Amino acid sequence: MEKEVIVGEKKLNDRSLLRNFYPKYVFEKVEDIPYELIAKEGIKLILMDMDNTIIDSKGKYSKDIKKWIKYMKSKNIKLYIVSNSFSEKVVKRIAKELGLRYFYKASKPSTKAFKKVSMEFPEINKSEILMIGDQLFTDIWGGNRFNIKTILVKRINKKEIFISRLKRPIEKVILSHYYKKEENLSKCKV
Ligand SMILES: [Mg+2]
Repeated sequence: MEKEVIVGEKKLNDRSLLRNFYPKYVFEKVEDIPYELIAKEGIKLILMDMDNTIIDSKGKYSKDIKKWIKYMKSKNIKLYIVSNSFSEKVVKRIAKELGLRYFYKASKPSTKAFKKVSMEFPEINKSEILMIGDQLFTDIWGGNRFNIKTILVKRINKKEIFISRLKRPIEKVILSHYYKKEENLSKCKV
């Protein structure tokens, strides 16, 4: 029996601080997220982190992710890169190649970028927006703070900048609580 993990919505029974960092779902990679789930959740707009979510440390993305994006678009799902990257050049190149709109220097977990992007789609409610990313402390926390749905994916690269590496052990602790407490729909453990 599926039990939904309601995270990032105002009615939280669990007062645990850790809940702020819980994604609604966890997948190995973006391409594994089925359209059926997107449809079931009523998602109309997908916000995607870029580094380690779409591209690896060399700036490369897989053919499968390109296909996945194309497929989602064919289903009328809007997609947007929301990246903390300071390099507009890189974000713009990836966005252009994949046919996505983009927001760079997003400063996640600040909700500033989410607010701005969602204002571009006044017809879409927050409950219809999904954030996908590889980091609990930026992508997932930011998404939860903005009250949108979140999916955590496993980072593409193990090579990371120092600050991200530092945060990983703490992420592991939070995730172990997440898996212990929640009977979630996770397809994998990160
Ligand atoms: Mg990332």
